[in-house]
Amino acid sequence: MAERSWSFSKAFRNIFSGPALITEDTWDELETALITADFGPDVSEAILDNLRAEVERHRVTEVKEMRSMLRDAVEERLAAYDPTLRLSERPAVILVVGVNGVGKTTTIGKFANYLKTFDKKIIVGAADTFRAAAVEQLATWADRAGVDIVKPQQQGQDPAAVAFQTVQRAIEGSYDIAIIDTAGRLQTKGGLMDELGKVRRVIEKQAPVAEVLLVLDATTGQNGLAQAEAFIEHAGVTGLVLTKLDGSAKGGFVLAVQEKTGLPIKLVGQGEGIGDLTGFTPHVFAQQLVG
Ligand code: GDP
Repeated sequence: MAERSWSFSKAFRNIFSGPALITEDTWDELETALITADFGPDVSEAILDNLRAEVERHRVTEVKEMRSMLRDAVEERLAAYDPTLRLSERPAVILVVGVNGVGKTTTIGKFANYLKTFDKKIIVGAADTFRAAAVEQLATWADRAGVDIVKPQQQGQDPAAVAFQTVQRAIEGSYDIAIIDTAGRLQTKGGLMDELGKVRRVIEKQAPVAEVLLVLDATTGQNGLAQAEAFIEHAGVTGLVLTKLDGSAKGGFVLAVQEKTGLPIKLVGQGEGIGDLTGFTPHVFAQQLVG
């Protein structure tokens, strides 16, 4: 992957470019960096306590060595969750859920494009039928990615009907993967969860749901997670997509979110372009995070 300037690694870079030997100040700065990067108080404390114990046990005195221990510790925690996407069913039906504005539609466009590089035959379904703009936006992305789309016949059509048609076409046309966009209107939370339940039920009449991916905006960090809790409770989420990591100073959210939800991060969005989506690799991410 190309070198990027990760705003969230700055906090760590400052510590590690400072004095060569570990002092009490180093620990204070590290605590501040972890909190600033949105690791959250629990994860920050656990990392600090473990690191301090390791540093003492191995009589480590150099900041440089501490840094590589921190990197390893972050990687180990990140790798405790399996980021593998379940795509072996044919069609593999993927529901994409999340609050409006987090980057769902953009993610679907990027994801379809990414999967096409593996020679997969893809169809997307515009089941966010309430917002005409959402349907048009998805159509634009489908066009860009060169994949087929099922759109509602009229605005406000039952989202479950669109989901049903998408899966039907996927089966009839021997598609590998069907990715379905859903609504994210939070003000009607109860209704929205019922709607998602119905979407799921009609899909399952034809094919199992392989993945329910919850999209989260990394720039909103822990607050965004609170907003998304209803999806985690009710939508049968199997994995997370973190978007907008390119503009975020909150890279630690990556670790906090996995540990808080118990769900793996499966994809990471790093920009608005069609190529700005990657799988999640703990090793690479730990390096980008800690430097
Ligand atoms: P939706 O309402 O959840 O479908 O959100 P959209 O897909 O419409 O995205 C909302 C905004 O976030 C758009 O302006 C996108 O270009 C932007 N966006 C989505 N993903 C990313 C990302 O990974 N990085 C950045 N910088 N912007 C993103």
